[in-house]
Parts: sequence; C-alpha cells; structure tokens
Amino acid sequence: MKAAVLHEVNKPLVIEDVSLPKPGPREVLIRTSVAGLCHSDLHFMEGLYPHPLPAVLGHESAGVVEQVGADVTYVKPGDHVVTCLSVFCGTCDNCTTGRPVLCTDTSVKMLPGASNRLSWARSEKLNQFLNLSSFAEQMLVHENAIVKIRKDMPLELAALIGCGVITGYGAVVNTAKVGPGETVVVIGCGGVGMAAINGAQIAGAGRVIAVDTNPAKLQLATKLGATDIVDPQNGDVVHAISPRAACITRSRCSAARRPPSRPSRCWRPAAPRPSSG
Ligand SMILES: [Zn+2]
Ligand SMILES: [Zn+2]
Repeated sequence: MKAAVLHEVNKPLVIEDVSLPKPGPREVLIRTSVAGLCHSDLHFMEGLYPHPLPAVLGHESAGVVEQVGADVTYVKPGDHVVTCLSVFCGTCDNCTTGRPVLCTDTSVKMLPGASNRLSWARSEKLNQFLNLSSFAEQMLVHENAIVKIRKDMPLELAALIGCGVITGYGAVVNTAKVGPGETVVVIGCGGVGMAAINGAQIAGAGRVIAVDTNPAKLQLATKLGATDIVDPQNGDVVHAISPRAACITRSRCSAARRPPSRPSRCWRPAAPRPSSG
C-alpha cells in the first residue's frame, strides 16, 4: 500500500510503498477512507512536537474494516469505523475505573517508537503514529482503537469525530465540566472551537459566547449553539464579554462566593493546557 512518510521535519511528506502484516489476535485492518489533517499533525511535521522518524502521521480518520484478528468480536469486515487516538486495554486500573484515556498498558497503548506494525523495503524502522498512522491507504490497529458507526454516516464527517470533535466536546464536558445554565466563552472558532460550542449547547450551557476574527465562522458558530458572538476587531474582548458573563458563574470563581449585595462580574480565560493528539 501507499503511505505518506515524514522523513525529516520541515520537509514534504513522501509517498512510499509500505506493508502491514496480517492482523494479530486483537488487531483490525482498516481501509482508510478519510484522514483529516489536524494541526497536531502539522506540529509534528514542523518539529514542534517530537516523534521518532521516519513516521507515517495521521490520526483523525474513518474507514472500512477489511480483516480482523482471530479474537476480535467488536467488528467484522465491511463495518464502518472512526479511529480513536487514545487506544486502551480495558483491563488496567485506570481503564476499569473509568479513565481509559490514562491506560497504562504499553503493550496496547504503545509508546512512540515501540510499534513494529509498519514495514518497507528499507532496513530503517518506520514508525507508527499514535498507534494509528492514517496518512496511508490502510491502517492496522488494536480493536480498542476504533468505534463502529452506522453505514449511513458520511465518512468525511465521521473522521472529524476522531480528533477535533472529541477534543472540543471533551474540553467542555470532561475538563471544564460545564453544567446546565452556565456561561461558556470559546475563543477561536476552528474545528475544535466549533465542537466546544456544540458541546456547550449539548451540556445545557445558558450562554455560549463565541470569539473569532472571521465573521463567517462567527455566523456558523450561531448555528452550532453560540448565543453571543464577539469579534475582537471591534474592540476589547474582555470588555465585550464581561457584562455578558456577569453574575452567572456560580461554583468556579471567587466572585461567585461574595455576598449577593456585591456584583460578581468575573471573567478570565482558562489556563493553557498541554495539547494531546
Ligand atoms: Zn488500560
Ligand atoms: Zn488531532
């Protein structure tokens, strides 16, 4: 099969002939239908994030199952799947206590440089990326690195669930733990930001304030759940947001614990968090 190989940072990807073995007992061979180009892929291409090279990048993908290993029961050939960039074992302490994203089984969640799934004519090792490597015509992955979807879901849309959608939704629901009625500010209405806006609406947020310099994105944000839009080109963002966010946050700011006679006007951006995926 063909795969796009990153040989060196800041150099173009090169299409190479690459091979995959037959699926092991719990592995699944997937025909890649769609692979998004995530900004994280770009960070690795630019050397901002390190990874053993050469490597086949790509992690936001969807495809069709071609073969399954002897012990795989979750999917069968012909099933449509979205790939998952945080494969999990399902049996370690973290997996069995509801935190599969923190899986510690490195035989399943292989560390960078550990996977030997990809091979080519050269003696040099070719590295798999995030146990997926979807910039390739096929992927060989653990069965816990895929989620089965309905066949009428367009695969070019399904692929986005593999990274951008879950990143934005997870930031709202898992990290910020937004609850009904709360106010959410989303700065930047790209793929992740739009998913965060949509996630905030799903979580029941009362006001969802979208911030972006692109008027078209702001208009789209209103269709995904934004109740207010702010364009920083029209003035100071904090000044624009503060009145809208006043008196709404209850549990996560010191102002909310002041006596009710004092106005609680509070807004500050969340601290930057390390990116993953
Ligand atoms: Zn685990
Ligand atoms: Zn990504």
